[in-house]
Amino acid sequence: MNTRSEIVDSIPDASVSLRVDGARLWQSLMQLAEIGATAKGGVCRLALTDLDRQGRDLVAGWLRGAGAGIEIDGAGNIFATRPGRNAGLPTVLTGSHIDTQPSGGKFDGNYGVLAGLEVLRTLNDAGLVTEKPVAVAIWTNEEGSRFVPVMGGSGAFARVFTLEHLHQQRDVDGVAFGEALERIGYAGKAPIGGRALDAYFEAHIEQGPILEREDKVIGVVTGALGLRWYDCIWSGQDAHAGPTPMESRRDALRGASRLVEAVNEIARRHAPDGRATVGFMQVKPNSRNVIPGRVAMSVDMRHPEDERLVAMDRELRAASAAIAAELHLECEVRQVDQFPASRFNAGCVDAVRAAARKLGYPYREIVSGAGHDAIYLARVAPTAMIFVPCKDGISHNEIEDARPEHLEAGANVLLHAVLARAGGIRDRPA
Ligand SMILES: [Zn+2]
Repeated sequence: MNTRSEIVDSIPDASVSLRVDGARLWQSLMQLAEIGATAKGGVCRLALTDLDRQGRDLVAGWLRGAGAGIEIDGAGNIFATRPGRNAGLPTVLTGSHIDTQPSGGKFDGNYGVLAGLEVLRTLNDAGLVTEKPVAVAIWTNEEGSRFVPVMGGSGAFARVFTLEHLHQQRDVDGVAFGEALERIGYAGKAPIGGRALDAYFEAHIEQGPILEREDKVIGVVTGALGLRWYDCIWSGQDAHAGPTPMESRRDALRGASRLVEAVNEIARRHAPDGRATVGFMQVKPNSRNVIPGRVAMSVDMRHPEDERLVAMDRELRAASAAIAAELHLECEVRQVDQFPASRFNAGCVDAVRAAARKLGYPYREIVSGAGHDAIYLARVAPTAMIFVPCKDGISHNEIEDARPEHLEAGANVLLHAVLARAGGIRDRPA
């Protein structure tokens, strides 16, 4: 007869050989991708549309079929909980989103949710009972394509903004988030946020080229880049392109052009993790034979360390002031948005790293350059992410692709990271 301590001591042996079913995971991904499938092999399943409802119905049905209890909160976030031995313990949560960009792919978000489903199915097949409850979340409107703000469901969950604020947001046709949610039948009654969470793990395709380039299978995500957005407004003087001599011009576009190069130099000075991009420019009057008198441009700067972002901010202001002085222009630099850098929980990051090492997958530490629900979750729970490579680093595109064996590896790492936090004992012989 086993004593309690013998059972607990046997945990590593009981679960070390456990693996997800990669073919089943792939099949679920392909089946979900049929809802909103595009001609070019991608997916268009915008948040809170009929297609989103169909996707939710399908995945929630699968989760229910895996024995999980379903709850839906006021933001439409879905929580599917597989009970643990001890209902009083905080939940180990995983998940992601199933809404997509208008020309999105099959894997962004969908992978994290279906990897969570695969973890539950694997625990069921093995007859494993975890000590803590294990749950899968489907976060509403992560993409921010139909409704702003992005990461709306997880942001409301983490109380970054209120549920009322979220419900009032309107799409381009004037439909409010709250109405759309009601219409698809996913305005739930469960309270928003406040769940006791032991940990949150999110598996995701990298959406960048690093893992593929270095032949790594797993990205142990240590945090996410902080971000600052600016509008830079250059003012000079409109004048005729013919009669105005070069030395007496006040060409706002010349200032803006110099700043594009300066901004790129700033990011290079803060290599390897600094990023800086000018992605928008509006030239006035934008006429072939008029010297531009006004240019509005955007600057997007990112870095994993907030102190570095402060330095990059200083360098941006210094560079624009110097260029403006030299070219007899004015430049106004306005910061319009900011996201602090986030560092994931050391314990959760360790759990991901240990799982990758134990399973023998080549891995490296990596910082997320994109936004994810995990970034908001990190404000209310110990959090980490698992990245897997995607083809050519491309996402938010119908040609987004990932290899089945990489997706399987990421789900195995997720399984073992979850087990490390949730604790598991065998209930019956597998
Ligand atoms: Zn995503």
